[in-house]
Amino acid sequence: MHNVPCPGCGAQIAFRSAASVMAVCAYCQSTVLKDADSVRQYGRMSEVLADYSPIQIGTAGSFGGQGFAVIGRIQLRYDAGIWNEWYVLFDDGHGSWLSDASGLYTMTTQRAVDGVVPTFESLVPGHAYPINGNRYVAADIRTADCIGGQGELPFQVGQGWQARVADFHAGDLFLTLDYSDAGKTCLYTGQSLSLDALKCQMLREDDAIEAGSGKFTGKVSRLGCPACGSNVAYVPGMTTHLACPNCSASIGTTAEVAEVLAVGQRMEKVATSLALGAEATIAGVPYTLIGLLQRRDDDGDSWTEYLLFAPRAGFLWLVETSAGWERARMLDQWPTWDLGASALLGSQPFTRTARYRARVSFAAGAFNWRVTVGDAVQISEFENGRARLSAEVTAQELTWSLSNPVPTDQINAWFNTTILPVSKASTARLTTIAHWFAAAILLFNAVPLLLSFRNTWFLPALAIACVYLPALYLDRFGERP
Ligand SMILES: [Zn+2]
Ligand SMILES: [Zn+2]
Repeated sequence: MHNVPCPGCGAQIAFRSAASVMAVCAYCQSTVLKDADSVRQYGRMSEVLADYSPIQIGTAGSFGGQGFAVIGRIQLRYDAGIWNEWYVLFDDGHGSWLSDASGLYTMTTQRAVDGVVPTFESLVPGHAYPINGNRYVAADIRTADCIGGQGELPFQVGQGWQARVADFHAGDLFLTLDYSDAGKTCLYTGQSLSLDALKCQMLREDDAIEAGSGKFTGKVSRLGCPACGSNVAYVPGMTTHLACPNCSASIGTTAEVAEVLAVGQRMEKVATSLALGAEATIAGVPYTLIGLLQRRDDDGDSWTEYLLFAPRAGFLWLVETSAGWERARMLDQWPTWDLGASALLGSQPFTRTARYRARVSFAAGAFNWRVTVGDAVQISEFENGRARLSAEVTAQELTWSLSNPVPTDQINAWFNTTILPVSKASTARLTTIAHWFAAAILLFNAVPLLLSFRNTWFLPALAIACVYLPALYLDRFGERP
């Protein structure tokens, strides 16, 4: 440990790691650079945003049979949200990064680059690249801004510092390429893990979070929509974007003050089986329904996805399709997949059953990423028995989720409600039936149309309109039994 007085306020700043080159004063936010023996102030760092993270400077744990302590942090913001990179110091003196993104954790350590690595511009999510002797699949490619920092850090960051990073998976191996420094690419490898696996001590207590930040994070709270004033339920620090259920405004909640990112387009209200704010008890854990969105594929079939949140257990998805209900969770241990027709999750083989594009047609409530009506993803689905794997690919990201069917009775029991089971017969689209009617009308009127088109065309046209328009309306806005 090496203590220096803060050039800004005189408070003691501790350097615990020999590898640290800068530190942020806990009292005045001055950033202090450490040269051989001297220290100098070179600016100020913004305070980190109060968020849900249970980790703090001083949190201790163990990983790989060795103890570690959290000594620094940078907080980063990108298009879809914020995440934390915690700098941890292990007992043997080496440093690693514990990344914490909406409750998904990875521990990575810097390694030497062996051979060539792909350029940032060439990366495509879902594609595999040979890196350091392994085949890694690109998962997430993002440019982010450093918005705050704490403690000591192994490189110089400050206001306006921009990170260009890409994450890769190979089974349970995890790799990050950091392109932030134009001159050289840094490589980090490690694995995804659960916070429990780190056996942490000195985590933040809920009370401390409340006292420290002035608001209780990780608990569902309410925010007045800055566009229309209506109340929206959200989770401070955990959900980064709101879609106002009343005016459809897109609201960012990662700044100190909620800001309107885009005014809402007028949208038809969508009737859903479960409403925003609904409460459920699942396996003894109380969840709140905080977000819902509808998506539609290119054939016009639509389904509803519900985002549930519990302070300790985190996020959970329920999906309602014409075939019934599913419970889904995001995977941090990735299946092996080479973009082909099969995927392997651990030792379980899955076979591709569908591939389609889906667009968000409606969104309301709070989400842990920025969701906008019109957002498109390419979805590949794989099945093994009743379990279904889904890969969702956008231009920036590939994510995997695993879902299992849930009987409607179970949903009713969780929410203490009564939703009727979906009738399979009702799932045929009315417009499809109307197409056949239109074809039949044209066929039956073929002779008069051919003989005297000018005098007869409007009769079949009127008949087709009478059949087709109500079908189109009901398919689009009608409630399915
Ligand atoms: Zn200071
Ligand atoms: Zn609003």
